[in-house]
Amino acid sequence: MTAKLIDGKAIGKRIREDELKPKVEALAKHGVVPGLAVIVVGDNPASKVYVGQKTRACEEVGVHSETHKFPEDVPQAAVLKRIAELNVNNKIHGIIVQLPLPAQFDMRLILESILPAKDVDGFHMYNVGGLVLQTGDDGAENIFPPCTPYGVQRLLEYSDIPIEGQNVVIVGSSNIVGKPMALILLRKNATVSICHIKTRDLAQFTILADILVVAAGVPNLILPQMVKTGAVVIDVGINRLDNGKLVGDVDFDGVVKKASYITPVPGGVGPMTVTMLIANTVNAAERQSAQQRVANQGQAGSPAL
Ligand code: NAD
Repeated sequence: MTAKLIDGKAIGKRIREDELKPKVEALAKHGVVPGLAVIVVGDNPASKVYVGQKTRACEEVGVHSETHKFPEDVPQAAVLKRIAELNVNNKIHGIIVQLPLPAQFDMRLILESILPAKDVDGFHMYNVGGLVLQTGDDGAENIFPPCTPYGVQRLLEYSDIPIEGQNVVIVGSSNIVGKPMALILLRKNATVSICHIKTRDLAQFTILADILVVAAGVPNLILPQMVKTGAVVIDVGINRLDNGKLVGDVDFDGVVKKASYITPVPGGVGPMTVTMLIANTVNAAERQSAQQRVANQGQAGSPAL
C-alpha cells in the first residue's frame, strides 16, 4: 500500500479561494475589510518567517494585516497598552501575539488581555473553555478554535476521511496542538487517546489508531511498525535537521508504505494553520460587523426623545 498524500498547500489554497475570498467580498459590500493585528516581541528568526507567511496569506485573500513590533526588552505594560488599544479599534477584528514571548513576559496575562471576540488564535481561556463545552456539530460558530488543530480537522473533512467512531491517537498534549486537537475530534465523536512524553510504550497506543495525529517535535518518533496498516497519519511536527532539511515527527518514507493517507512536511498541516488564522479573522469580522449592524438598526429605530 502507498498512502495518498494530503496536500495541505493545495487544500489551504482552495479554502482561501473558494471560501474565504467570497466572504471577504461579501463583507466589502458592507464597507468592512477584515483586519488582523500581529504583535511581535523581539527578533526570533522563526517568528519572522511565520509572520511573513501570515502577512502574504492575508494579502492574497484581501485581509488587512498590520504588524506591531516591539524590542526584546520592552516592558510588558507597553504591550498590554497596545492590546487594549487594538481591542477597541474597529478596523481590527483579530489580534494575535506571536509566541514564544521573551522570559520577562507573563504569557497567560498577555493572552487573556485580548478580547475573546478578537482572539483569532483561540488561546484565550474563553475560547478554550468554549471548545471544552461545545456539544454542537461545529463549535467554530461561536468560538475560535486554535488554528493548527482546526486546520487538521479541515484537512480530514476535505479529504472525506470519516471521524465519527474512529480510534484517534494524538501524540503530544500541548495547549496549542494536542489538547485542543483531542477536544475537536471528540466533538466529532471520535474515540480519542492522548499520549505524551510520560506515556509508557507509545507503540501500543499508536498501533491502534485509525487516525494518528503526531505533534511532539521529535524527528522519526513514529516508525512504520508503530502504525496500523491503512491508518490515516497526520504529521504536525516541524523539525529542522542539522543538514537544514525540514522534517516532521513521522518516518515519512517508511510510513507512506503502510498508511492510507499521510500529510507531508512541509506542505501538510503548516499551510492549513495559516489558512485557519485567516478563516478565524474573516469569521471575527463577520460576527463583529453583524453585531454593529444590529446596534446601528437599534439606534435608527429608537424613538426620538
Ligand atoms: P510542545 O513542545 O509544546 O509539546 C510537545 C508534546 O509532545 C508534549 O505534550 C510532550 O509531552 C510530547 N512529547 C515530546 N516528546 C515525546 C515523545 N518522545 N513521546 C511522546 N510524546 C512526546 O510542542 P507543540 O507546540 O505542541 O508542537 C509540537 C510540534 O508541532 C513541533 O514540532 C512544532 O514545531 C510543531 N507545530 C507545527 C505547527 C504547524 O502549523 N504545522 C503548529 C504548531 C506546532
